Amino acid sequence: MRNSQVAKVKIIGAGLAGSEAACQCARRGVDVELFEMRPVRSTPAHQTADFAELVCSNSLKSDSENTAPWLLKEEMRRAGSLLMEIARECAVPAGHALAVDRVAFAGRVTEAITRDPRISVHREEVTAIDETRDITVIATGPLTSPALTSEIARLSQAGAVPAPNQIPKEIPKPLQAQDPHLYFYDSISPIVEADSIDMSRVYLAARYDKGSADYINCPMTEEEYSRFYDALLAAQSVEERDWEMLNYFEGCLPIEEIARRGRDTLRFGPMKPVGLKDPRTGKMPFAVVQLRQENLRADSYNLVGFQNHLKFGEQARVLRMIPGLENARFLRYGQIHRNTYINAPRLLRETLQLKGHDGVFFAGQICGVEGYVESIATGMLAGLHVAATVCGTALEPAPRASAFGSLTHYVTHADPKNFQPANITFDLLPPLEKPIRDRALRHRAQCALALGQFAQWLEKSGVTQRSLEVRRA
Ligand SMILES: Cc1cc2nc3c(=O)[nH]c(=O)nc-3n(C[C@H](O)[C@H](O)[C@H](O)COP(=O)(O)OP(=O)(O)OC[C@H]3O[C@@H](n4cnc5c(N)ncnc54)[C@H](O)[C@@H]3O)c2cc1C
Repeated sequence: MRNSQVAKVKIIGAGLAGSEAACQCARRGVDVELFEMRPVRSTPAHQTADFAELVCSNSLKSDSENTAPWLLKEEMRRAGSLLMEIARECAVPAGHALAVDRVAFAGRVTEAITRDPRISVHREEVTAIDETRDITVIATGPLTSPALTSEIARLSQAGAVPAPNQIPKEIPKPLQAQDPHLYFYDSISPIVEADSIDMSRVYLAARYDKGSADYINCPMTEEEYSRFYDALLAAQSVEERDWEMLNYFEGCLPIEEIARRGRDTLRFGPMKPVGLKDPRTGKMPFAVVQLRQENLRADSYNLVGFQNHLKFGEQARVLRMIPGLENARFLRYGQIHRNTYINAPRLLRETLQLKGHDGVFFAGQICGVEGYVESIATGMLAGLHVAATVCGTALEPAPRASAFGSLTHYVTHADPKNFQPANITFDLLPPLEKPIRDRALRHRAQCALALGQFAQWLEKSGVTQRSLEVRRA
């Protein structure tokens, strides 16, 4: 039965998430009004007026079986994702990765969307949302226009004040005095896999022995520090575009920027050794890098205060100079970039609906995921949930063991105090009931479990059945 109260479904943003969401709605017989502000107004990163433009790399990450990015893509393929289908058609040789010809990819997505009779496209910037009448999917991405950002702040019942220099210049004044629920920058420290840390070179300690010794400390001699410092200053940064010329928030300066302020500044900042006596020598090292446990399973650790703007290859090279990290495997590299996203654990349900406003859904990077594939996946989920809502049914959230379910579980259950967008990694998947030590076997078992539960969910919810029916029609 259709929900006759709903005036229309509006999807704002025809990027990766919005395009997929629109297609999923249309395939289920739901009429969509899709709003895209380009080319009337562009973002600092987009170059074209096409939908689903890939703004940077052309890679949709690994397509090797039993990797986490593969699992997410595989679930999307099994659920009938339009963008995954087009990605396959536009694939270019890229080893184990799925990379696409970006022009062909965006062109075909644009064509498929514009010729869909159920989707009407409006090339205009949306600045207001009627949460009382419409069903709306907000999929405006990390570079959401400032006017809509203010509107999102209103919807999320803005309250506290972000640090003044965290606010990009073009964000309108009213927002500058609001919102603990919205973020404008990502400042991400690198994360390494625990079993790649050489524990013989590090020690556990809490500063001044306050609390339990939960931190892994990587000690440096003066000579090691000196070599590390020189390498850090010489390392290549990611190219800064004008729009990214950040007025960095002092509390999260990139390490290379701190280093540029003087040879010893790091030793008074993130590499401060005071209160961290090495129990093996009884002495305080010259400098220390601290690693903090990232999850309950303790299988990954982040480098505290090591957000940076270096190229990923350079990070790997320089950070492996830290004692104990010589063979570190990086789950995530450090980054700092403009990124508008909501505090999803506070604001969203697992159906990607805004708590308190059932008609408002969020999808893509703005809902707290990171990456092209993750954005498409949440767009797909939002589209499925919207279609179910319009049809007067409810779609169960995707199973926890699946990559879909793990992503939505993360964005809705992470600690809201330190919420940061995440890529899909095995870290987000639930641990197996019977632990498996061997990494490859463990990942294979996690993928098998995920796909098994996902298949049951698809069957039970009729997701694939419905998309196939529409395709036949
Ligand atoms: C500079 C940059 C580089 C990135 N590089 C990568 C990368 O290499 N690999 C990766 O996996 N991820 C990358 N990301 C992260 C992320 O995966 C991409 O931003 C991705 O495109 C997000 O998808 P989305 O659908 O959420 O947003 P987008 O794809 O950005 O789509 C949002 C759409 O909404 C439109 N819009 C915004 N405001 C309004 C409005 N008020 N009214 C109407 N339309 C509006 C925009 O024009 C845009 O078309 C990058 C992000 C940035 C900012």
